[in-house]
Amino acid sequence: MSKGKLFIISGASGVGKSTVLKRVMEKRPDIRFSVSATTRDPRPNEEHGVHYFFVTKEVFEDMIAKDAFLEYDNHNAHYYGTPIGQLEERLALGHTILDIEPVGAAIARRKRRDATLIFITPPTMEELERRLRGRGDTSEEQIAIRLERAKWEMDQRRWYDYEVVNDVVETCAEEILNIIAREAD
Ligand code: 5GP
Repeated sequence: MSKGKLFIISGASGVGKSTVLKRVMEKRPDIRFSVSATTRDPRPNEEHGVHYFFVTKEVFEDMIAKDAFLEYDNHNAHYYGTPIGQLEERLALGHTILDIEPVGAAIARRKRRDATLIFITPPTMEELERRLRGRGDTSEEQIAIRLERAKWEMDQRRWYDYEVVNDVVETCAEEILNIIAREAD
C-alpha cells in the first residue's frame, strides 16, 4: 500500500531540471527520488545508485523480460527505465519523484492513475539553446538533435497536469513545492 504520492516530472534536456529538483528536495527532505536504470555511460560527476543504476544492455533487456520496469524507453540511443520494486519501496515511505521523458510518462500515467504530472519549460527556445551551448560538453550535432527532441517534448506538455517555467530556479522550485503541497499534503 503506497503511503506517498507519485510525481512525474519531465522537461527538455538543458531546461535545468536536475538543479530545480535538487532545490525541491533540499526544501523537502521527506520526498524521495526514484533512481532510474540506464545503459548510457556515467558522466564524470555521476554515481552508480545515486544518479542512475548504470547497467549493460544485457542486464537491461533481462529486466524488461522479467517485467521489472514500471516504464522504460529507448532514446538518445540508450535505454532508460524505472525499476518497479525500488519505486514501490520508496512510495511505501512517502512522496516520490520520477524524472522521466514524455514517452515513459505516458506509460507510467496509464499504470498509475493517481500520479501528478509536471512539465518544466524553458522561458524561450532561444534560452534553451543558449543553456545547451553553455554546458560546453555538447557537439553542434548533439545540440541540433537535442533541440529537435525538445520541440517534440514541448508539444507533449499539453497533456501534463501542470506546466512550470524555469526562468529563475528558486521560483520554479517554489512553484513545484506548492503543487506538491496542494496535491499531496
Ligand atoms: P540524461 O541522459 O540527460 O540523464 O537523461 C535523458 C532523458 O532521459 C531525460 O529527459 C530524462 O528525463 C530521461 N529519463 C531518465 N530516466 C528515465 C527513465 O527511467 N525512464 C524514461 N522514460 N526516461 C528517463
